[in-house]
Amino acid sequence: MNAIRLYRKLESDDFVQCLICAHKCKIKKGMTGVCKTIANVDGILYSINYGIIVAKSVDPVEKKPLFHFLPGTGSYSIASPGCNFRCLGCQNADISQTYRDENLGSYLEYFNGMQKTPPEDVVENALKANCKSISYTYTDPAVFFDYSLDVMEIAHKKGLKNIFVTNGYYTEESINAAKGLLDAANVDIKFFNDTSYRRICGGRLEPVLESVELFHKNGVHLELTTLLIDEYNNNDEEIKKIADFIVSVDKNLPWHISRFFPLYKMQDGRVTEEKTIINAYNIGKAAGLNYIYAGNIRLDGYEDTHCPSCGKLLIKRRGYNILENNVIKASGAESEGKCKFCGYKIYGMF
Ligand code: SF4
Repeated sequence: MNAIRLYRKLESDDFVQCLICAHKCKIKKGMTGVCKTIANVDGILYSINYGIIVAKSVDPVEKKPLFHFLPGTGSYSIASPGCNFRCLGCQNADISQTYRDENLGSYLEYFNGMQKTPPEDVVENALKANCKSISYTYTDPAVFFDYSLDVMEIAHKKGLKNIFVTNGYYTEESINAAKGLLDAANVDIKFFNDTSYRRICGGRLEPVLESVELFHKNGVHLELTTLLIDEYNNNDEEIKKIADFIVSVDKNLPWHISRFFPLYKMQDGRVTEEKTIINAYNIGKAAGLNYIYAGNIRLDGYEDTHCPSCGKLLIKRRGYNILENNVIKASGAESEGKCKFCGYKIYGMF
């Protein structure tokens, strides 16, 4: 285990406050925070799952999903166990939630017994796999934040980009700590009301919105995802609020609207209907978003990128595969692409 970077001593010697995520847990000596991965040991906060990797894979970057960031490249993807949310419909509950559901006694002892991977090895594996980036994903990187920063520093020195796939439940301190190291993020905007965030995820809406704004201000390439769940967040008003918020930050931020499948503690939910996805797509377009994509569903044309200026097809996709790419790299600018037909600047890194 490693001491964490972001914490605040409190007046009482028994408590220390973690500043990694918006829960800002005040953790008593001998106890863990909400995520069960940060522990107060004798007045110092430790990341007790540091270096433990429970999932690793070479994924197309499109799977994150990121459609405007180094398209067609591989991203070495890792996760440590845990989460700071407890989403009832979690798609990775086996690594993010189930250990919390069991009565493990001491989380410290539980994690102590698990194998650790040095940060250098992650970078080496990513390079060996010919990836262009490392993704901190599957569970939320907030629960392996210090490990991620250590990997990210080495990754940058070796020319790799860094990607967070996240619920966006961060503090100003953690977002600024990642500034200059984090290149891209896909952030979930799961709902646009606080009640659902609290009831279904164990979080709040406002910190997520603030994180999106600050990531964007810090120059992180951003794409947003909303998992649409019929009877939970498929009403027009809520969808429009999400789209309007994204437009207020930047109408060029790609928005992925994703189909829900019943999982974990939402087995009674329904698979999202095709018409719900199409309806949300149309609401997003009417709100002024330039790039909207359907996810977890095969809807011909709804995964493609069109030029917002001339309307021509720029990137034709099927699933995670790129069938056609008409975005050309602007000369000398690593982060810019432009339409092959009219020269319009396309948001992203190409
Ligand atoms: S990462 Fe978040 S949930 Fe975990 S201890 Fe820190 S503030 Fe609490």
